[in-house]
This record gives sequence, structure tokens and C-alpha cells, in this order.
Amino acid sequence: MAELMRAVKFEGQQRIGLQDLPWPQPAAGEVLLRVQRTALCGSDGKLWQRGTDLVPGHEIFGVVDHPGHALHGQRCCVFIPVHCGHCASCVQGDTHLCLTQSDLIGWNRNGGYAEALAVPQQCLMPVPDDIDDDLAPLLLDTIGTAAHGLRTVLPLVPPAQSDVLILGAGPVGMGALLAAQSLGYKNIWVSDPRATRLALAESLGARPHQVGDLQRRFALVVESSGAHAARNQGLQVIWPRGVLLLLGENDNPWTIEEGKPVRRKLFYMVRSFYFPKSDLPANIALLRSRRDDYRKLVDQRFGLDEFASVFPRFMAGELVKPVLAPAL
Ligand SMILES: [Zn+2]
Ligand SMILES: [Zn+2]
Repeated sequence: MAELMRAVKFEGQQRIGLQDLPWPQPAAGEVLLRVQRTALCGSDGKLWQRGTDLVPGHEIFGVVDHPGHALHGQRCCVFIPVHCGHCASCVQGDTHLCLTQSDLIGWNRNGGYAEALAVPQQCLMPVPDDIDDDLAPLLLDTIGTAAHGLRTVLPLVPPAQSDVLILGAGPVGMGALLAAQSLGYKNIWVSDPRATRLALAESLGARPHQVGDLQRRFALVVESSGAHAARNQGLQVIWPRGVLLLLGENDNPWTIEEGKPVRRKLFYMVRSFYFPKSDLPANIALLRSRRDDYRKLVDQRFGLDEFASVFPRFMAGELVKPVLAPAL
């Protein structure tokens, strides 16, 4: 009988179980990765609600266990967009925007809330040994997504003269705060309805901004929550020639009311999704430069048996970026 592994099962309507699955069998071009840490992500709330037959979890860090492969024994993060490597988008370096493949690991194929998974080898991103296990998953959504969006809009909003507002102090919002600081932005406000999150943002150097306050204007607004109200607030408070950067996600249609605050204005609205693989060295440098601050975000490490109790607490906002360690 084949060996089994343990994995999380999202059964639907917020029910969470554990399941025994056959040990992953990598196909040609794939390798086996033993999961060391997978960070929880708020976007998994969708799968928690509706249930899925796939193993969720997409902020994955592990060790390659594939004797004979060049990366056997290597610590790696998992780049979640499966990509072809030779379409026009991949060739110009946009490996996160492949034109021929659209599967995301943890969404359209098995992810990291398990002991192991099979990973297409082009999705392996080696992690240096000085980055410890708990922090490694932050190289993905928290640092990667936030920093890539900010690097993209940097030429439009020079740090020296630009006030910044970050809407939402979840992991991506905190990631945007730390990345913006490292890019040279000095005056950064953060808004979030949760007092504990605002306090954490302040401890990282942000100024608190009242939720819904439309008085102050900003050259750069980073929307990380996906909430329509926050996006609308961003449209209202953006300076002429400013940038509204949309990092948050929302499955419901967003209607923009074209009143004077939107029409009589010149502004940029930029959507940025994830990041290209080539950002990894810069993301590692960012993590190294603020290691102790990033560590403040990882507020719990737990094993598979605790998943069903930790995940709802995370979704309720009690935890910032807990990490699953399947071996615990
Ligand atoms: Zn995520
Ligand atoms: Zn491609």
C-alpha cells in the first residue's frame, strides 16, 4: 500500500478537517517538496467558505526531497503561478503573467497545507540559509506582492515629495509599509479599523489615519484590503497625478461612481498581481534589511492538528501571519 500524508481539508461552510492522501507522485518536470512552513492567507477564506477537493495553501516554503535532482536538499519557496517560460510575457520576465498557463498552486492544484506536494521545477525559488524557516514564506505574498506593486509605481510618485496612505493593515498592507520605507518614502499613513493592527503599523513607523477620513490628500494610495469602501476612499483622496495602487482582491463587482472627485482629475489606477521570479533577490535583500520587523508579523507557529482552531482565529483578525509547520 502506498504511503500516506496528512493534509488539511476545507469541507465548505467553514468546516475544516484533516485527510490522509496518497504521498504526492511528481510528474515529469516536477519535484517533491517537503513542506516546512506554509503561511496562512486571508484569500483562503474563499475556499474555507465554499470547500475544495484540492489541498489549499499557497505561501509555501519547504525542502526539495528528490534524489538525483539538481536541487535535492535545497530550501525553496514556491512561486505559485505555473508558467510556460516561453510565451511573450514569460520571455520579457513576467513569469507571473504567463499567457498560456494560468494554474496557481494551492488554487488549481494541490498546495501547502500538507506534509508535502509536487511542484513544477520552474516554480522553485531557492532560499539562502540565513533566512529562517518562519520568515521564508514572507518572501511571497507579504514582501513579493507588496514590493512589486510599489516598484512598479515608483517612477510616477517620487518618494522625496510623496505622501503615502496604505488602506488596510493586514500582511500585504504591512508588507507595503516596510517596502515603501525601504524605497525611500518618508511620510506614510496607515488606516485600519482594528486598533491592534494600527498599533503594530505605528510600531513599524507608520502614522495612524482615521478610517474614512477624506480631508488629507495623498500622492500614493495603496489599497490592500480589497474592500470597495476603501477603494472608493482611495479615489477620493488621491492627489492630481497621483497613483491608486490596487493590491487587494474582491470577487464582487466594483462600481465606480463617476462624480466630480473622479472626473475632474488626472490620476493613475494601477493593478498589480503577485510578482515576477526575477524579483526574488531584491525581496531577499528587503527581508534581510528589516528582519526583526518582519518577524513581528509572524505571530504563531502551529502544527496540522491545530489548523482547525488557528485558521478561524486568523480569519477573525486575531493573528497577523501565522505559519503552519506540518512536522510539529
Ligand atoms: Zn496569499
Ligand atoms: Zn508563459
